[in-house]
Amino acid sequence: MILQEEAIEIINQSALKLGAEFIHFQNSLGRVLGENVYSDMDMPPFNKSAVDGYACRKQDLSYDLELLEVIPAGVAPTKQIGPNQCSQIMTGAAVPEGADTIIMVEHTETNDGKIRFIQSKTNPNICAIAEDLKEGDLVLEIGTLIKAQQIPILASVGKTFIRVYRQPKVAVISTGDELVEPQETPQVSQIRNSNAAQIMAQLQQLGITGRYIGIAKDSPESTRKMLEEALDSSDMVLLTGGVSMGEFDFVPEILEEKGIEILFKSLAVQPGRPTVFGKKDKQFFFGLPGNPVSSFVQFELLVKPLIYKMMGSNFKPLPLKLPMGVEFNRKKAKRKSYIPIYINKNGEVMPVEYNGSAHIHSYVKADGMIYINIGETTLQKGQLVNVRQI
Ligand code: AMP
Ligand code: MG
Repeated sequence: MILQEEAIEIINQSALKLGAEFIHFQNSLGRVLGENVYSDMDMPPFNKSAVDGYACRKQDLSYDLELLEVIPAGVAPTKQIGPNQCSQIMTGAAVPEGADTIIMVEHTETNDGKIRFIQSKTNPNICAIAEDLKEGDLVLEIGTLIKAQQIPILASVGKTFIRVYRQPKVAVISTGDELVEPQETPQVSQIRNSNAAQIMAQLQQLGITGRYIGIAKDSPESTRKMLEEALDSSDMVLLTGGVSMGEFDFVPEILEEKGIEILFKSLAVQPGRPTVFGKKDKQFFFGLPGNPVSSFVQFELLVKPLIYKMMGSNFKPLPLKLPMGVEFNRKKAKRKSYIPIYINKNGEVMPVEYNGSAHIHSYVKADGMIYINIGETTLQKGQLVNVRQI
C-alpha cells in the first residue's frame, strides 16, 4: 500500500503533456492555453466617459454651461470644450478635447438651454486611456485554465484563434458479470452499471467526451478484447472493477500481458484501496475500484490531476478550510479516509450519512469531502478541516 501523496507523486512524474492545437476562442472553455496572450491595444483605447452626463472643465463647474453637441458611444467628438462649455456625453463615449470632468446627468439642471451643475463636488468620471492595460501587456499566461472570465479577455484583445493543449482521448470500460446497462431491468443477482455513466460525467465536467467501450465480462478473453479496443487510439483508459483480490479480478494480469507497466496497485486511502495505475509508452491506465464511491473519489483524487497535467495545467483544488459542526469518529485509522460532507447554514462541515464505498446515494447530498489522516480517529467539533468541493 502506498500513500495518496506518493501516488500523486508517481502520477506527476510519469505525466506527459499532450501536443497543442489551434481552436476558436469561443470553444475554449475548460481548455488550457498553450501560448501567452498579449494585448494588441491600450485599454481603454481612449479617454472614456464612465457615466451619462456632460463633459466640461472642472474650473467651470460653478457657471452655466453652453451645450456644444451630443456624443453618443461609438461616435468621435467633433468639438473641443472651451471655457463655460460642455457636450452631452454617453457612457462609453470618447471624452472631447479640453474636458477633464464629466458631470452626471442626475447632478444637473437645464435652464434656457444652459447646463447647470447642482452639486458641490464631483469625481472626474473618466476612465483614462491605458489605465487597465497597455498595448503589449501580458493578459493571459501559458498554462491558464480557460474559464468564463478568461473568454472576454480573449475577445477584447481580438485573439480569436488560440493555441491550447490537446485534451486526452479517454476510453471507459466497466467490468463485471453482474452488470446490466441502465436502460435494462436487472435480473436476480444483477445490478445496473452506474460507474460508466459516472465516469463519463466526471470527464464531461472537465470538458472531455469519453469513449465508452462497454461492459467486459469477468473472463480474461472479454477483458483482453475490451482493453485492446480501449487502448486503440486513446491516451488514457479508465476501467472500473475487477482490480481487487477476487477470483475473477484478472485485470492486473491482462495489463501485464498487454505490456502496461503497473506503477502502483494499492492505496492507503479509503475508499479506493484497490486502485491500479499503469503506463505504456504515452498511454495511461487506471483500474478504479468497482465500488461506485471508490471510483468517484479516486477519479477526483488521481485521475483529474493527471488529466489536467496532460492538458498543460496543474490542478489546484480551491483551498477551503471550515470548522467541523460536530465531532467525527472512526474506529480504524490505518488509511487516510475521505468522508462526504455538506456545509450547513452556519458554514460548518457536517458529515453526510455514509455506509461505505457502495453507498453512492450519500454523495448526492454532499457538497464536498474531507479527509481524516492515517493514525487519527477523531475530528473535534470546531476543528478546521480542508473541504474539497465536488
Ligand atoms: P469489483 O471491484 O469488481 O470487485 O466490484 C466491487 C463492487 O462494486 C461489487 O459490488 C460490484 O458489483 C460493484 N460494481 C462493480 N462495477 C460496477 C459498476 N460499473 N457499476 C456499479 N457497481 C459496480
Ligand atoms: Mg467485479
